[in-house]
Amino acid sequence: MLDIDSIRKDFPFLEAGNGKNPLVYFDNASTTQKPIQVLNKLDQFYRESNANVHRGVYRLSQQATESYENARKKIADFINAKEERSIIFTRGTTESINLVAYAWAQQQLKPGDEILITEMEHHSNLVPWQITAKRTGASLKYIPLNDNLELDVTNLENYFTPNTKIFAIIHKSNSLGKINPVQQLIEYAKTVGAITVVDGAQSVPHTAVDVQKLDCDFFACSGHKMLGPTGIGILYGKPELLESMEPFQSGGEMIDTVSMTESTWNDIPWKFEAGTPSIAQAVGLGEAVDYLQNLNMQTVEDHIGELTEYALENIQQINGVKVYNQENNRSGIISFNVEGVHPHDLAQFLDQDEIAIRTGHHCTQPIMKKLGVSATARISFYIYNTKDEIDKLFRCMKSTLNYFN
Ligand code: PLP
Repeated sequence: MLDIDSIRKDFPFLEAGNGKNPLVYFDNASTTQKPIQVLNKLDQFYRESNANVHRGVYRLSQQATESYENARKKIADFINAKEERSIIFTRGTTESINLVAYAWAQQQLKPGDEILITEMEHHSNLVPWQITAKRTGASLKYIPLNDNLELDVTNLENYFTPNTKIFAIIHKSNSLGKINPVQQLIEYAKTVGAITVVDGAQSVPHTAVDVQKLDCDFFACSGHKMLGPTGIGILYGKPELLESMEPFQSGGEMIDTVSMTESTWNDIPWKFEAGTPSIAQAVGLGEAVDYLQNLNMQTVEDHIGELTEYALENIQQINGVKVYNQENNRSGIISFNVEGVHPHDLAQFLDQDEIAIRTGHHCTQPIMKKLGVSATARISFYIYNTKDEIDKLFRCMKSTLNYFN
């Protein structure tokens, strides 16, 4: 069990009565709050250790490099990557997926090839593949959702063909909370020789991820959704693939030698980290990973699962609520609508009660189309949320809805 009282003390954002912040923060799938340990680390880095990495021979620069590379080590360990050189620092999941699309797919694919995704994707794992298909002449196919809003995995041979060159899939849906059978699908993708990409933006913050067990070729996630700073994310890639690829961006840091007419490339992972990287942010993410590992990821997952079950039981007391992901949902993500009330209006009223919930299409417009709505309300939990906060949400929702009726 998580010691929530003690955890909450680590989050200055949650301090009651500062008059600025919502007291109940339920938009964690979008971004999480940061513990004091991460804030202190960033502050300490900028106050005491700030220097550019991989460049200076002076002590401070070497210390900064050590902290930056140490963060890489922590992240490799967190997702069980075999080698640190598999971990590329990016700005986030979006940039990680774009890196694969531009530096692998757009170099390899040709007319007749197929890119396979799913109908459940966040736009970050959809739009880069649409652009890639247009540029290369490859076709874009997808595994559809069935009536239970799960991926239709019954007849995989309908979707995977010998022409499937890349298969990109969301691990855990940010708008439905569904956890996809990625390991099984990756195994299948391998039978047709496809390269596999997993969007782990929502899975890594909640659950212990093991990239070796998944055996995916690429895995992407964002630091800010797991207690870390914004502007830092991860692309995991199998070393042999990363080595075979051309750079994504170019300039300083990613080169080995440069003449006026040509250049050669640095080793991985630095070949993919052109320019000055997000040094303090990487160090901050390393601290966030330490924080989560101290809590234990199974305990984190259990806490989030328990809150979800509690909220799903209680949301039923509210008249006119339609929950889109009620069954077997322990994901920490609940999407719903209330009859006769636009989700934006609901969120604005709740904001007056100092409760932050998310509304909109959640960067998943195809899912909204499938649901037949333009937007849903979404609540999403993290380690510092409590059942009391859920009670407050439903109390306030009831009085808001009385106003509408
Ligand atoms: N993929 C999923 C499943 C997400 O939930 C998000 C963000 O909400 C992203 C990708 C994009 O992440 P970022 O904006 O950090 O690049």
